[in-house]
Amino acid sequence: MAEIGLVGLGTMGAALASNIADKGFDIAVYNRTTSVTEEFVAGAGDLAPKLTGTGTLEEFVAAIDRPRAIILMVPAGEAVDAMIAQLRPLLDDDDLLIDAGNANFHDTRRRAAEAKAQGVPFLGIGVSGGEEGARHGPSIMGGGAKSGWDRVAHILTAIAARFGDTPCATWMGEDGAGHFVKTVHNGIEYADMQMIAEVYGIMRDGLGMDAGAIAGVFRRWNAGPLASYLIEISGKVAATTDAKSGKPLLDVILDSAGQKGTGRWTAIEALHLAAPATAIEAAVAARNLSSRLEERKTGEAIFGAAPQKVDGDIVDDLEQALLAGKIACYAQGFGLLAAASGQFGWDLPLPGIARVWRAGCIIRSAMLDDMATALTETPDENLMFAPFFAQRLKDSHGALRKVVSTAALTGNPAPALGAALAYFDTMRTARGTANMIQGQRDFFGLHGFQRLDATGAHHGPWAG
Ligand code: NDP
Repeated sequence: MAEIGLVGLGTMGAALASNIADKGFDIAVYNRTTSVTEEFVAGAGDLAPKLTGTGTLEEFVAAIDRPRAIILMVPAGEAVDAMIAQLRPLLDDDDLLIDAGNANFHDTRRRAAEAKAQGVPFLGIGVSGGEEGARHGPSIMGGGAKSGWDRVAHILTAIAARFGDTPCATWMGEDGAGHFVKTVHNGIEYADMQMIAEVYGIMRDGLGMDAGAIAGVFRRWNAGPLASYLIEISGKVAATTDAKSGKPLLDVILDSAGQKGTGRWTAIEALHLAAPATAIEAAVAARNLSSRLEERKTGEAIFGAAPQKVDGDIVDDLEQALLAGKIACYAQGFGLLAAASGQFGWDLPLPGIARVWRAGCIIRSAMLDDMATALTETPDENLMFAPFFAQRLKDSHGALRKVVSTAALTGNPAPALGAALAYFDTMRTARGTANMIQGQRDFFGLHGFQRLDATGAHHGPWAG
């Protein structure tokens, strides 16, 4: 009998099932299209004895030890609801369903509430690391009933990535907590990628560097404080030659970015929770704008191409700017997590989140270990104010300012770096400019304002 079951042998499901089998657990698998299951088991090689391929849901359910634990790895949304509806009548009340796709956490909250009302266990877990991560060690962000997590924690920690000896798999909180943490992970991923794309643009268009030279810069940065998976793969992408044209691959890739929605969800939740994540919002908008190819061509025909040459060598400033931008972006991400934790009653373990992101996931980086320490030492503080990161920002914000202003003056778009800088500057301005907003609001709507020198609500003389 299998210790666990998995439904959905697509890219992620097949990799996850292989990983589970590889770690010595017997697993039953089911896929809507039966031939996919047959091919998967037939091609499993040494892992085949650990796998039980099944052709019907009845067969699948019968192959799993009771109380059962079943991972769903199907597209987020209707497919998950459909699978739950098909499976539940075949299951016992203590059988655990685990949605491991990229669900919207609101859906997970709804499904958790429905499961609770039915008295059946349900988990929503975020899995990051793409196919490679799922196969050899993803970062796992668990959510739902803690008792359910405890039942499968030994399997999930066994298959997770490791940072040193520590598995990157943690229970984040009730209902949608795990999927929310995964969503914010993806939002940060959008911003990280966008900021890298912006400095790439300045190197390509502003400094006239070819892809090979840019690859060398990324390789160098990957040996310093920016060391991270995304910097590493950016270097590899830049170094790749297109077999068909013989040109650098980057030079033949269309400049229109795809997205599946998790970045947008992060921005939406940030707005809902009044926890600004402006670098992420800028990154989502940049992907949307990237797809407006014809409109951008029209703009260039009317105004001329924006990017101009940059004077001087600012490559080292680009590195420091990325560092500063990244710190500001993560400060926003952790601020958003803290706000959601309060709003949804989760008690999210912020240092624990930084820890599970240290390995296995797309945003893994050297800096996350320092973030885990900072979030432990100063848990209620903006991450930018933690002594370690405050010092890093003191050392690097000048470069961020230089890069953003140079980008603006030379027409090289840098919206995420610009958003990060504006956030940093706003958060170190004790006397801001919202007094003007309050004056305006009172003028046209008698909304009232507070005074610096008195308590209570006040109005301007226009109030009659
Ligand atoms: P794929 O498209 O590769 O696979 C989807 C799987 O779900 C297939 O096995 C498919 O079966 C099955 N499926 C689709 N619709 C239904 C349905 N209505 N009922 C039952 N089964 C269905 O997707 P991925 O593996 O890439 O993604 C799965 C989940 O993991 C998604 O939520 C995704 O967002 C998430 N994810 C993906 C990552 C990635 O890098 N790809 C990274 C992290 C999370 P069939 O063969 O019959 O079509």
